[in-house]
Amino acid sequence: MKQTNLSIFIPHYGCPNCCSFCNQRTISGTKTPPTAEEVFAILSEQQKVLSEKEMCAEIAFFGGSFTAIDREYMTALLKTAQHFTTRYPAQFCGIRCSTRPDCISREILDILREYGMTTIELGAQSMNDTVLSSNRRGHTAEDVRKAAALIKEYGFTLGLQMMTGLFGDKPEYCIETAREFIALGADCVRIYPTVILKDTYLGELYEQQKYSSFGFDETVDLCAELLMMFDAAGIPVIRLGLHSGGDFDGEILGGVYHPALREITEGRIMFGRMKKAMEESGKTRFRIYTDRRNISLISGHKKENKLKLGELGYSFSITQEDGTDLRIEALP
Ligand code: SF4
Repeated sequence: MKQTNLSIFIPHYGCPNCCSFCNQRTISGTKTPPTAEEVFAILSEQQKVLSEKEMCAEIAFFGGSFTAIDREYMTALLKTAQHFTTRYPAQFCGIRCSTRPDCISREILDILREYGMTTIELGAQSMNDTVLSSNRRGHTAEDVRKAAALIKEYGFTLGLQMMTGLFGDKPEYCIETAREFIALGADCVRIYPTVILKDTYLGELYEQQKYSSFGFDETVDLCAELLMMFDAAGIPVIRLGLHSGGDFDGEILGGVYHPALREITEGRIMFGRMKKAMEESGKTRFRIYTDRRNISLISGHKKENKLKLGELGYSFSITQEDGTDLRIEALP
């Protein structure tokens, strides 16, 4: 059965922080947090849709710091979610939330366990303390380590989220963050290149020309390296790049936002593999055998790989061979 997330945004509710990049109301496209009754109505409707599609979903409370919101409100949301996971286990296979690393304690985890929470994602953003403080995160890398260890100890699935290109960030800090995520035993990861939004501290710095984040190509190269690191560690990257659910595009001042970021990044990884094999062969003409799902990656976004390899003097044709990842045959 196909599994998905059913996202319910709890925007900025109860958050005492003001992170440099955050404008929750812009990202979620909604201003008022949903009531438990509204969540009940959403889940009732989705239950039918999921049943028809023969899909199951984790009910995902995203958008703010779920474990820091008003306790009564949090409990009401959890009760509602638990009602559906208990009554319709075929359609609702769990509950997940995202929160801050410094909003995790044994007391909170006991509550989450009681209501059947399955996955907890921590917005770590960076494991570099200077980057964290420069971006007004209000927590340290050590808070992430402690929270991650506690979440694992309780047996929840651990998700870790990181950002690239924050104020004061460097690509090597991002690589180090990924290394720490792997060491912490992340079960899944999200990578968000920084998008600079209006009405944020980063937006202010950007307009004062004190900050501009990483460039697009630099971000793609960095994210390609991160994807390869997590892939080698067997950790799925369940999201690369910000997903906008609302009126978002008009709010962007700078940074990296591209709806096809993942495809472009995976194409870049494929480019590196092909270039290396072609260089090592000492030949210039090739036939590439690959599974159907890789064909667009081999050509690259807007045929970028084909063009770039052409500029280097290489030409190739593609032959579909299902089940083959990548096989490159040099032609005489
Ligand atoms: S903790 Fe989360 S919700 Fe609060 S300001 Fe930071 S990013 Fe936004």
